[in-house]
Amino acid sequence: MHVVVLAGGIGGAKFLSGVRELGHEVTAVINTGDDVTMHGLRITPDLDSVMYTLGGGADAERGWGRAGETWTVKEELAAYGAEPTWFGLGDRDIATHLVRTRMLAAGNPLSAVVEALCDRWKPGVRMLPMTDDRVETHVITEGTAIHFQEWWVRHRGQVPTERFVFTGAAAAKPAPGVLEAIAAADAILIAPSNPVVSIAPILAVPGVRDALVAAPAPVVGVSPIIGGAPVRGMADICLETLGIEVTASGVGDLYGPELLDGWLVDTADAGAAVEGVTVSARPLWMTDVAETAAIAADAIALGER
Ligand code: GDP
Ligand code: CA
Repeated sequence: MHVVVLAGGIGGAKFLSGVRELGHEVTAVINTGDDVTMHGLRITPDLDSVMYTLGGGADAERGWGRAGETWTVKEELAAYGAEPTWFGLGDRDIATHLVRTRMLAAGNPLSAVVEALCDRWKPGVRMLPMTDDRVETHVITEGTAIHFQEWWVRHRGQVPTERFVFTGAAAAKPAPGVLEAIAAADAILIAPSNPVVSIAPILAVPGVRDALVAAPAPVVGVSPIIGGAPVRGMADICLETLGIEVTASGVGDLYGPELLDGWLVDTADAGAAVEGVTVSARPLWMTDVAETAAIAADAIALGER
């Protein structure tokens, strides 16, 4: 069985570690809207969260970056007053960014860079960036566009937020293999990732949404909202900005019946209804790999119903 998973960073990585347990052939299509250049280094946060988590190199407590990290370079940059000082760049992590930046500068597409980095990490799933083209999520705050990273890491989302734009998306092409994987899938899952800044950028790459709608395989989403709250992160601020209710049905409606065949919600949201979509409830706390694998298995089963 071939399973395609659309995923963001931390929620996506956790979910993928469960999907991988099921023993299927897995292709992960990962958000690159968070990608940013800092201190001359090209940084791909969601790809790295997935790669480090599946490769056994992630710091589980912090939720991002490398385990056993040190911060010497960051301290030295701060001593120079080199901006931005608000972005955490660990020493181990920087090695990854150096390899990536050098490969990109030599003309390699991002998808080839990911493949090369995965030679080391062996994530056990095929990792594809949503696109090789540059797409960046920007946030319009008081008429000014700032990068998503600045909005979240620097301001913690606590600035007047008007909307999110995926700069470059309209001209982007899906990365090689993305449309083919979707068309050949037996099951397509939308991870419990942030719907506004992790999944929406993937859907904004021309051709991806159409491919999902046309795919013979069922598309099943797993709710990132449990009992009206995001388990972790900023999905509530993002949804409120769009005027969408922070509930499992609010997110289900956002994806909608054209995209979704099934919508898996937590038992706390068992009453959730999404018009035109089969909704099923089970506990959605990704507490450990075995429980997360059971969530993924139920999502696949919901699609088969
Ligand atoms: P990011 O790119 O690092 O922000 O990560 P994602 O977008 O992939 O995932 C973030 C989302 O994961 C958050 O908005 C949460 O709603 C969701 N999430 C995190 N842990 C859990 C969990 O245990 N269960 C469910 N259902 N959702 C979770
Ligand atoms: Ca992200």
